[in-house]
Formats: sequence, structure tokens, C-alpha cells
Amino acid sequence: MLETICDIMVDAYKRNWITSRDGNVSIRHHDRDHFYITPSGVRKQTLQPDQFKKIKIHGLLWTDEPYTDISKSLRPSGEIPLHFGLQRAMGQHSTDVRVVVHVHPTYCVAAMHAGIDLSTVVDSFPELSRYTKVAPNVGDVPPISQELADQCFEKLKLDDYGNIAYDIVGIKGHGVVAIDSSPWRAYEHIERLEHICKIVLASGNYGH
Ligand SMILES: [Zn+2]
Repeated sequence: MLETICDIMVDAYKRNWITSRDGNVSIRHHDRDHFYITPSGVRKQTLQPDQFKKIKIHGLLWTDEPYTDISKSLRPSGEIPLHFGLQRAMGQHSTDVRVVVHVHPTYCVAAMHAGIDLSTVVDSFPELSRYTKVAPNVGDVPPISQELADQCFEKLKLDDYGNIAYDIVGIKGHGVVAIDSSPWRAYEHIERLEHICKIVLASGNYGH
């Protein structure tokens, strides 16, 4: 699946969901005490599976584990507090794989910038909620901060059992975080929300 993650990041780049070095993804199999995360500062158009970082979970702490020679010289994504918090909690209790994708899709970010709470677009576009549950926005928080991570957990309603109530959450002035059991499934939540945000913004009618 690391190969597939590389594919979705190339696609995300082509769709203007990120610039070259933006975006990050992690993946964990529920029965393993480690997960894989994209490295920091690598161009996503050329991302390779052997560049991923292997992160071992020790309760509330993590360590960087040896994986490949190439990944040795790389650092894990700066958004590791977000990925670690989710992968640590969700992985213990889910029955399958968990993939967390963070990107900066143009229309989702534009909609939040225009004052739209992404959780409300479902009111006018019910088709969206058939497959994707959208959390209320996270407000202004610094990138790569614990605060960003904590706010995302709160809005996704991450509980003590590792369950979340939503599939995707928007972070104002920044991007989105989507979660599912495969890279493409997480990607589709982003695609669906991005499409609706594009329609809402094109209409010029968003109630302000
Ligand atoms: Zn970001």
C-alpha cells in the first residue's frame, strides 16, 4: 500500500491539492505496533515507498525505527503529532488498516476562507453524506503543532475506544485530514468534499 500512497500523492499534486513538498500520509495495520509515514520535505511527484519512515508506538511516545537506507537520512513529516495521535488511538481498536491523509485542496480551503463551515454544506448537498461524514472545521491553529493535532481529534470526536465520528475534517487557512481503510478510500472523501466546495463557490451563494 505504500506504492498506492505514492500514487495518490502524485494525483493530489496534479489536482492542485498540494504544492510539491506539501501533504503527508500515514498507514497502520491494526495488529502492528508501528506505522509508516511520509518523510518531511520530499517532492511528492517523486515519492517512493523506500523513503517512508517507520514509526514505532510505545504508549504515548514514538521512536523512529530503521526501515531502508534511503529513509535513514530523512525525517518524518512535521505533522507527526497529528498522525501519531490518530494512528496510536485508532489502530488499537479498528479491525483493519487505517490511512490518514493530509492535503491542502484548493476549494475546501477557499470555502473555509470564505467563512463556510464544511460540515454545513451537506445541508444543501445531501449526496455528500451518503459516503462522507464531514466534521465541523478546526479554527486557526499553527501548522505542525500539537494544538492542530488536538483540535483535529476533538472535531473528529476521537473517543477512548479509538473510534471517530467523521471521515474528514477541515483546518481553516490550511487543509483537510481524511481517514479510511485504504489510501484511495481516504482520497475519495477529499475528492467528494472538494467537488461540492467547488460547486458552492462557483454558485456565489453561500449565505453571508
Ligand atoms: Zn498541511
